[in-house]
Amino acid sequence: MQQCLRVPTFGAIEAGGTKFVCGVGTGPDDLRVTSFPTTMPAETIARAVEFLRGETLTALGVGSFGPVELDRTSPRYGHITTTPKPGWRDVDLAGELRRALGVPVAFSTDVNAAALGEAKWGAGRGVGCCLYLTVGTGIGGGAIFNGVPLQGAMHPEVGHIRVPRDRAIDSFDGVCPYHGDCLEGLASGPAMAARWGIEPRELGPDHPAWMLEARYLALGIANIVFTIAPARVILGGGVMHQTQLYPLIRREFVQILNGYLRMRQIAEDIDGYIVPPELGDRSGVLGGVALAMAGSR
Ligand code: ZN
Repeated sequence: MQQCLRVPTFGAIEAGGTKFVCGVGTGPDDLRVTSFPTTMPAETIARAVEFLRGETLTALGVGSFGPVELDRTSPRYGHITTTPKPGWRDVDLAGELRRALGVPVAFSTDVNAAALGEAKWGAGRGVGCCLYLTVGTGIGGGAIFNGVPLQGAMHPEVGHIRVPRDRAIDSFDGVCPYHGDCLEGLASGPAMAARWGIEPRELGPDHPAWMLEARYLALGIANIVFTIAPARVILGGGVMHQTQLYPLIRREFVQILNGYLRMRQIAEDIDGYIVPPELGDRSGVLGGVALAMAGSR
């Protein structure tokens, strides 16, 4: 009798506030993807289930916008919690997907998933521990140490750290509804748009906005590097499509460290220390695949 070996296939969802990206596969060279706008929960989840249901999945990995509950001992594990997005507050995203598809669901934040994707297949592979920071409509980050997202009682919220600022240079109050001038409040895409009265992508590459942006991001990165010492820092998100930021951030970062950190990766190759993502807009959905793989082991 011929034995039938089942090759594991994984499902992935990058659940974003504006769109859901769903994938099926085993990695960058084997991935089928679809995406659609994030509307109300029932409709959006049904579309994801419709795409995934025809597959024989081993497990599903979900990286979601948040905040989310990641404490496995909590009855609310897998829920989106206090989001201001209409209709999505307290939605049991992981539970609804698990019940509809009948497979194990590994659940994390969108940035943890993107960090995991980059760590496994992209700019963070081979370094053991990396930080992925996204700078876009918000600022968020995930750190992967030995293949596992760094996490305490909840997921880190590094976008909301404070950075020193000089009001004589920048009197802008910041846009974070909770903190005003936290890093996200000063340096996210909406912060730039509010400060300069124009969308960041419409600012010329030589506009002084980029120098200030690089300064704030470098201060934020330095705080995180002093705290957890990642071996590489990957900067993604819409604002980082402005590639003139990378050399500016590296220069500011080195100035801020002022020779104190004797980290080989920084001293020998700063261009290889602060880098763009390598998976482009697939970091998140590939991170979902990586989550599913890790969760099903
Ligand atoms: Zn904040």
